[in-house]
Amino acid sequence: MPPSVLTAIIDPREVDSEVHNMDICNRYPLEFYKATLRYANPKEFVGIIERVEDRLESEEKYYGLRFTHNTTDIALGVKESAYKTLESMESKLKHQMELAEKILAVDEHDVAERVINSHFLPDIIGNLRAFSRQEFRCVKCNQKFRRIPLSGKCTRCGGNLTLTVHEGSIMKYLGFSKKLAEKYNVSEYTRQRLKLIELETISLFESELKKQITIDRFFE
Ligand SMILES: [Zn+2]
Repeated sequence: MPPSVLTAIIDPREVDSEVHNMDICNRYPLEFYKATLRYANPKEFVGIIERVEDRLESEEKYYGLRFTHNTTDIALGVKESAYKTLESMESKLKHQMELAEKILAVDEHDVAERVINSHFLPDIIGNLRAFSRQEFRCVKCNQKFRRIPLSGKCTRCGGNLTLTVHEGSIMKYLGFSKKLAEKYNVSEYTRQRLKLIELETISLFESELKKQITIDRFFE
């Protein structure tokens, strides 16, 4: 498909403002390195380390943007991220946590907390919601039903009906989240959220009628 919009002239004032923070100096001053030791706020260096933003009002915004390290090829870099080459969510998670543990500047406990809160929990909650509002499908003719017909069979061909959202899609991430919370130092609040969601899934999926128990349970 051809592009629908082409920009012939790029005005740095109109591009994504994130890049306005990119530094354009060829070396950092000593005071910068000293400030890193006391974890200084980067804002302290506004005006000291030149950034794209500092040039937006002048002609120099178009040329002479400097850099600290040379490269032989401006197109060098990762062509396919590990997020795509690793297939299962479990292995993506495993590799991400291994990396977090290796990198000194990264707090792996915080990573675990963020993965649970911003990735797994919303997913589990979304799937729980989808499960309870799901459609049913005929295994023979694929007819969809918003509600199960009273006969319990497909009204078109008499075939058996099945779920379109399965228990597995909800329980899958709950298991990962629980493992993360066990291994890493995750906040009590997050642990409790997981516990509550687990109780909710148990009440949804575990049928009291179908639960099998052995007779000796009555003699304990
Ligand atoms: Zn059918």
